[in-house]
Amino acid sequence: MSVWPLLGNPSLSATGSAPDYSQETDDSDSPAALQVFTAEQIVGILLGLIQSPENDVGHVQNRIQPIRAHTLMTTQQGIEWLEQQAESMASELTTLCDMNSGSEHVEGLERVASWLQDYFAPIGSPCQPIKLSNFQYLDDDGASIEQATGPALRWDWSSQAERISPSGKKPLLLSIHYDTVYGPQHPFQRCKRDGDLKMVGPGVIDAKGGIVVLRYAAIAASRFLGNTSLRFSVVLTPDEEIGSPASTQLWARICSEFGFGLLFEPSMSDRSLVSTRKGTGNFVFKIEGRAAHAGRNFQAGRNAIAHAASLIRDLHELNGERENVTINVGRIQGGGAVNVVPDLVVLRVNVRVANGDDQAWVEARVQQIAKRYDAPEAGYRVHLEGGIHSPPKPLDPSAIPWMRWVEEEGTKMGTAIHWKPSGGASDGNKLQAFGLPNIDTLGPDGDGLHSDQEWVDLASLPRKACLVFRLLARYAGHSEV
Ligand SMILES: [Zn+2]
Repeated sequence: MSVWPLLGNPSLSATGSAPDYSQETDDSDSPAALQVFTAEQIVGILLGLIQSPENDVGHVQNRIQPIRAHTLMTTQQGIEWLEQQAESMASELTTLCDMNSGSEHVEGLERVASWLQDYFAPIGSPCQPIKLSNFQYLDDDGASIEQATGPALRWDWSSQAERISPSGKKPLLLSIHYDTVYGPQHPFQRCKRDGDLKMVGPGVIDAKGGIVVLRYAAIAASRFLGNTSLRFSVVLTPDEEIGSPASTQLWARICSEFGFGLLFEPSMSDRSLVSTRKGTGNFVFKIEGRAAHAGRNFQAGRNAIAHAASLIRDLHELNGERENVTINVGRIQGGGAVNVVPDLVVLRVNVRVANGDDQAWVEARVQQIAKRYDAPEAGYRVHLEGGIHSPPKPLDPSAIPWMRWVEEEGTKMGTAIHWKPSGGASDGNKLQAFGLPNIDTLGPDGDGLHSDQEWVDLASLPRKACLVFRLLARYAGHSEV
């Protein structure tokens, strides 16, 4: 795996629809940039009546500079405010993670959704709960089950300046999921502090820690960036951990509304952010034979487990045929009493692909195998469901300027940012496939996700919120942060 910083790499500096940062100056590093103004000065500056000494350059920029100075000051206040929120963030994260919201636990999802509606109230926009359609899946008995989920939650926020005089810029999307991989029966249900810096708990980084980071960055923006041209929407979803079967339709509908996406999945275990992601999908085979008494009538039976075994061998042998494509036969359910020829197997397979060619190839091969083993004349039926639900996420040129911003703002905070490809998928894959480029790992640092060792670096909560707040300030057109 390569780790490749973008800063200073001239080959990556030419960009397509880049946010314009050509106006950026070096004043952010000068102590004068952090000057504190008196209340009278602020009023004067806002009215354009007086100049701050540093900005008294006496030419056409006079009318612009005071506003920028004011924004610089409020941005700095926002950063300072966020730096003081570490304890609140940790304690709210504990409350949120101690409430179960496993992907299929509808009651828990609804309870957490209603808690989140109150939790986000301070950003000052009304919550719009969005009911999502039920989705179907095959259970381990091969029956088609209709499954409900929780609501998606959406808030739209615009600065006062933007409401008065719209800039025409598309809003940003800030998003993450509130479901976790831990159902209500899972033994891992509660957070536990491990010293001052670490907390172990279900969802602390994946992705409830991301919810807390997002929320604080959004509140700071709503409080301190009111005089900029900022617009953003927050969307929280209930089903990412199972491949977003319900919220994919929502994404298909709303992605075109936004200019760029910031998603709050956790960083990698070495704190790198994710540059590119593999695509992934799940296939379910329902393999039917014929039941018979294993002693009296063995020949009349058609053994679904034996049939599945051959099919599995063919599937597994696809591994290695193409670099970067993996096929994992992950779960098999079938059989009962050993004196009965089994008539049903349900087989679940996860695939990972690096690009669109791989995706087409693996889908075709899996379908061929299903067809080959579907042999009604021999007494066997094979039914296949599923496919690639998250297409691969290659590097999108329009994300590159944003990646540079992340690096530059990180540098100002004393945090070196690195990027790495990941084999795992997120909603970032889908958003990009629906035309919305995004950076999807702005959540906290930690490790052990999807296990009972999941932990968060508590200091990363305010740090990431600051980083995102700086990005929001910069996107709003003020690059002096
Ligand atoms: Zn996850």
